[in-house]
Amino acid sequence: MNNDICVYLRVAEKELSRGSLQILGLGQKLAKKLNSKIIAIIAGDKTKIMKATDSLHIDEVWYIKKAEKEELDNCQLEAKMCLDKIKPSVLLILADAEGKILASELGVMFRTGVTADCIKIEVDELGLLQQTRPAFGERILAEIITPKRRPQIATIRENVLPIDVENSECDIKYIAVDEQKRSKEFEVVGLQNIVQIQKKSIEDASILVAIGKGVCHKAELERLYKFADKIGATIAGSRGAVEAGLVDAEYQIGLSGKNVNPELLITVGIRGSIQFLAGINRCKNIIAINNDLDAPILKRATYPVCSDWKSVIEKLGKKLETMEFNK
Ligand SMILES: Cc1cc2nc3c(=O)[nH]c(=O)nc-3n(C[C@H](O)[C@H](O)[C@H](O)COP(=O)(O)OP(=O)(O)OC[C@H]3O[C@@H](n4cnc5c(N)ncnc54)[C@H](O)[C@@H]3O)c2cc1C
Repeated sequence: MNNDICVYLRVAEKELSRGSLQILGLGQKLAKKLNSKIIAIIAGDKTKIMKATDSLHIDEVWYIKKAEKEELDNCQLEAKMCLDKIKPSVLLILADAEGKILASELGVMFRTGVTADCIKIEVDELGLLQQTRPAFGERILAEIITPKRRPQIATIRENVLPIDVENSECDIKYIAVDEQKRSKEFEVVGLQNIVQIQKKSIEDASILVAIGKGVCHKAELERLYKFADKIGATIAGSRGAVEAGLVDAEYQIGLSGKNVNPELLITVGIRGSIQFLAGINRCKNIIAINNDLDAPILKRATYPVCSDWKSVIEKLGKKLETMEFNK
């Protein structure tokens, strides 16, 4: 194991994406402090990758040969292969939906820690990352270290870092990585399902199904996706659901999420905290399903349903399917 810094980057058209430039700038700084190499892993077309990187200060670019755009996010095996050879101390990935999936899968493969959604990253002289991220509803900033396992994997939120990239005249070493044959178990079926359902952004949707922490398990989501699909709804969620990994942060309703104003909002297992309610002020009709009679959402709802969501969702689906909404 060495002190090299690895960054997982993406090319958008002819240049690195905005988030990737931010991650690269950070990686360069850490590498400089440790006097180590800065190494990038990028999936896509070689010519585009070379154009996007040739003036930048990067020691090595490991490029994963992928032709199809939809294949670009399915690079866990190739990334693992690169990391097995590079053996970096640190891996930095952008905290978007695909980046989070990649980071968590690599975390499992290397049995190492992943610190998600970092807003600040520093490194000490020995190469130990000091990773800062908000915790407990953003009430505190937690400083996290991964003392024993390598690589230290961190995802970083877009736009919390400036674009501060160092250029260089030096030759970059480009190393090709062939696409790996993947077995069935590596197909990301769940993600495809979500993308198919998310036809509209949550601000534009006329029907929203908002998932809360009361839904508990990812395995139960399939029923809610089917329900949403049946009634032409878009999936959203509370912060509780986002923190439980049930819904992506992009679809969070509320004070630190988005304001929504659909014709119909159906909340499932959401308590109705002040912060969540702040995002639904303009909703016209609210059906709230919660098994606790004291949950504030039931007082705010047009149609409160105090019950276990699993016992009502199918019946509700049948009723709503036949009703006309501005889809
Ligand atoms: C600065 C700050 C900003 C924040 N911003 C936001 C924001 O933008 N959006 C947001 O949502 N939150 C935000 N929060 C967090 C907020 O305070 C709550 O923690 C969060 O809304 C709780 O999410 P929840 O209702 O899904 O989970 P919980 O509070 O855990 O509620 C789950 C609910 O599900 C019910 N339930 C459990 N099982 C079932 C079942 N089988 N059937 C039916 N119901 C069931 C429970 O009775 C409970 O009421 C913020 C907090 C802070 C401090």
